[in-house]
Amino acid sequence: MIDKLHKDSCTGCKACGDICPKEAISFPIDAEGFWHPIIDEDKCIKCNLCEKACPALSTSMFENGSRKVPSTYKVYHKDKNVRYNSTSGALYYALAESFVENRDYIAGCVYDDDYKGAHHEVGNTVESLQKIMRSKYFQSDTAGVYKTIKKLLQKSERVLFCGTGCQVAGLYGFLGKDYPGLYTVELICRGVNSPLAFSSYMDELEKKFGSEIQEVHLKNKSHGWTNLGTLVKFKNGESYYKDRYHDPWVNAYIVGNLYIRPCCEHCKYKSFPRVADITIGDFWGLKFSKEEQKLGVSVALVNTPKGDELMSTSKNFMEVEERSLDEAAKGNPALQSTVKMNPDRNEFFKRIKNEPYSKVVWNLLGITKMSLVISTAKRNTKTLLKKCYYRLIKRRLVRQRMELK
Ligand SMILES: Cc1cc2nc3c(=O)[nH]c(=O)nc-3n(C[C@H](O)[C@H](O)[C@H](O)COP(=O)(O)OP(=O)(O)OC[C@H]3O[C@@H](n4cnc5c(N)ncnc54)[C@H](O)[C@@H]3O)c2cc1C
Ligand code: SF4
Ligand code: SF4
Ligand code: SF4
Repeated sequence: MIDKLHKDSCTGCKACGDICPKEAISFPIDAEGFWHPIIDEDKCIKCNLCEKACPALSTSMFENGSRKVPSTYKVYHKDKNVRYNSTSGALYYALAESFVENRDYIAGCVYDDDYKGAHHEVGNTVESLQKIMRSKYFQSDTAGVYKTIKKLLQKSERVLFCGTGCQVAGLYGFLGKDYPGLYTVELICRGVNSPLAFSSYMDELEKKFGSEIQEVHLKNKSHGWTNLGTLVKFKNGESYYKDRYHDPWVNAYIVGNLYIRPCCEHCKYKSFPRVADITIGDFWGLKFSKEEQKLGVSVALVNTPKGDELMSTSKNFMEVEERSLDEAAKGNPALQSTVKMNPDRNEFFKRIKNEPYSKVVWNLLGITKMSLVISTAKRNTKTLLKKCYYRLIKRRLVRQRMELK
């Protein structure tokens, strides 16, 4: 039964909870802030539906015609404002726009009202799309969303679902078959962080700024897509911004792997064929123009004929250029590799009960105020030297050209 599944294998996709006819499955939250299923034996009728739906217990991938070698594209949205406000090149927005225009449905991750958690929601308006857009880099609660999607599909509605690979697998596991109206998008995913870690960070910021949160923008582009940062706006009009070198959240995630869900260390959704119709992410590793550095570029791995159809119906919203899978894979290790947990994670969860979030992060990562100042100075000097070097070369070229004339 699913509650006997090893804790490190359960992804928390909640497909089992949605399928149980007796509502016998609940998801208590552990000391790290992650939910895991338990079965109420008094309610359970041993129908085994939960086991059949569970993608972690299945040895094969759901059969949706996914190709071993996807078609690969570099993509960005034509609208610069939409692109700036999305995480990568706004490929998701472009795919979802055609659904919303037709009043078809989109299902994706939105922040909770207090911005200290996230869950999946279904909608069919521009307002829903604006809530669903942008990455929230911690686990989203999918309870109930699979049931809602099934009802819509049974009424022959079209639904675009976007989530992590394990959530897409959870949806297919719950449905048990593909529906003509269902389209799936999976994020390239280096792992989901603990919702408890995120809420601890937000609590600390609320205390510091003396106000509730109005808006959160992780991987914010105000200093460029290639120089991401964290932006939080507060109801009292104040705001907080830290670039990736100075933000504890980015450091604990990208540098430290401090509080990623344990199942992500042996994620099943890294290989080919992929689980969803389209896989989306950042197209790292290319040579970018100034505008691309500022606004972001997406990668699309189109895995199925339905994926081809999605790309074709959204083509008016985006600039698309065919590239190779090798190029996409080279710059983006999370496409195929898993991350290693930080050995200090237990210490982190023990300490944040009594100490400020950011203090614990910096402490466990061994980063002090002084080391931050030194590394910033080193980076600034490097950038300055680079600028001087290019200016010198440019001047020399101009002089040579004048001499030739
Ligand atoms: C936890 C996480 C890890 C990621 N790791 C990588 C990586 O290593 N490399 C890479 O190239 N890309 C990664 N991505 C994807 C990347 O950040 C962008 O989300 C993606 O490129 C889409 O960007 P966009 O501009 O097209 O659209 P956006 O508008 O930014 O994307 C929004 C879509 O993402 C979904 N989404 C947002 N947050 C979550 C969440 N917490 N759980 C499930 N779905 C969510 C929404 O449902 C929505 O459909 C990750 C995303 C997440 C959430
Ligand atoms: S076996 Fe059936 S009733 Fe029991 S928990 Fe699983 S789905 Fe629910
Ligand atoms: S269906 Fe999802 S949440 Fe339930 S046991 Fe399996 S992996 Fe865990
Ligand atoms: S790394 Fe794999 S298991 Fe972890 S959230 Fe992403 S898709 Fe799911």
